[in-house]
Amino acid sequence: MNTLPLFDWHLHANYTDGHASVAECIQRANEKQLHSLALTEHVRSDSDFVEKYCSEVRRAAAESRVKVWCGAEVRILNERGDINLGKDAAQRFDLIVASVHRLPERPEGRDAGEAYCRALIGACENPWVDILGHPLHVPKELEGWTISETQQRSIARAAARHAVAIEVNRKYAVPTREFLKICLDEGCLFSVGSDAHERDDVGEVNGLLEILASLGVSDGALAPVEWKMI
Ligand SMILES: [Zn+2]
Ligand SMILES: [Zn+2]
Repeated sequence: MNTLPLFDWHLHANYTDGHASVAECIQRANEKQLHSLALTEHVRSDSDFVEKYCSEVRRAAAESRVKVWCGAEVRILNERGDINLGKDAAQRFDLIVASVHRLPERPEGRDAGEAYCRALIGACENPWVDILGHPLHVPKELEGWTISETQQRSIARAAARHAVAIEVNRKYAVPTREFLKICLDEGCLFSVGSDAHERDDVGEVNGLLEILASLGVSDGALAPVEWKMI
């Protein structure tokens, strides 16, 4: 049975493609008595809503029983692990989930699968990144590609070394147990995210926590440093 605390650190409100307001997401988290919630709106360097979004989240957070973090989901652009968000905007957030949404830029001749792995490793080395979002959910150009154990281990090692949490994601049902076992073996931190875009999906993370619990993940291995401040 899962005894890990119920937390959801990946979801979208209606500033981008989610359908619920910030207030509705936080209300749902309170109804479900979550341990904590992180709103992680899609943010880019040209997003013009960051200030309004952050102040709305922080205002609502002040009145919430459930601890609420103001986060962002950003894209990983290349093998250096650059994200599509500048430093000034990045520092407004409590936590940043970095995800690959399309094939990262790569040097000519680089195998696309290898470029994908290097981009995840690069993101772990980026000091702004706290969580790898839906790892091993690959862009459609890579469908059918199989990641090797060596590649999985390289990603897990980079994540462990830089204390970047590996997310278990409900929307895409990733990553595999095989990868999670390697991550556990390498001493990674873990996070869970519903990736909700609807109010009712906020906090739907029980199944994800059960996966982690069944692998022997303890609450000491959950999430990055902010977790310890609660
Ligand atoms: Zn995503
Ligand atoms: Zn997302």
